[in-house]
Amino acid sequence: MLKIGITGGIGSGKSTVCKAFELLHVPVYYADSEAKKIIIEDLGVKGEIINLFGNEAYGLDGSYNTSYIRTKVFQDQQLLNKLNQIVHPAVRAHWDEWSAQKAEEGHAYILKEAAIMDKNQGLDHIIYVHASEETRIARTLKRDPEKSRETVLSIIAKQKSDTEFNSISDYIIENEHSLVFPQVLKLHQLFTS
Ligand code: ATP
Repeated sequence: MLKIGITGGIGSGKSTVCKAFELLHVPVYYADSEAKKIIIEDLGVKGEIINLFGNEAYGLDGSYNTSYIRTKVFQDQQLLNKLNQIVHPAVRAHWDEWSAQKAEEGHAYILKEAAIMDKNQGLDHIIYVHASEETRIARTLKRDPEKSRETVLSIIAKQKSDTEFNSISDYIIENEHSLVFPQVLKLHQLFTS
């Protein structure tokens, strides 16, 4: 079974492309939403986060205090690294378990969707979903009206550049002037042949 990463900057269309693969019954692991679940449900992870940030890290109802954590790590790279060192290994372990289950189910390939991706993560191939920066900003502002253009730009500044995404990727899906589905079908045929 092939393990294939799917990445791209904010608003590039990763989730949209993944939905097209899901229509073809390809299992997709959405790393960000799995991480959010793990932060709330994994008691070991939760304990370590409370040790690092204090009880304010979670609300009384058990919800994760995202805005508090975001403020804390915003100007503190070391603290962000520590948070990542708690969350990333837990997500990797969960992904390993999930992918082993998918292999048992007999899938030809699975996808892992994440904005943060590198070559040495045990993935066989990486797909880069590409759209220009202006298009990504416009689509993100339309999808998340509460975000300002400045916020989107600051997220883009922290993500990989187009050149960096290109250098780690084996395939590109163009999501600006081209239809996504024919490109998805072509890759599906390749990964299942
Ligand atoms: P993020 O990294 O922020 O999670 P993403 O890369 O997963 O974003 P999507 O959520 O798939 O991106 O797409 C961003 C927005 O752009 C969504 O509202 C989506 O519906 C829209 N969108 C994606 N592709 C297209 C397209 N080809 N034409 C028009 N709108 C699109």
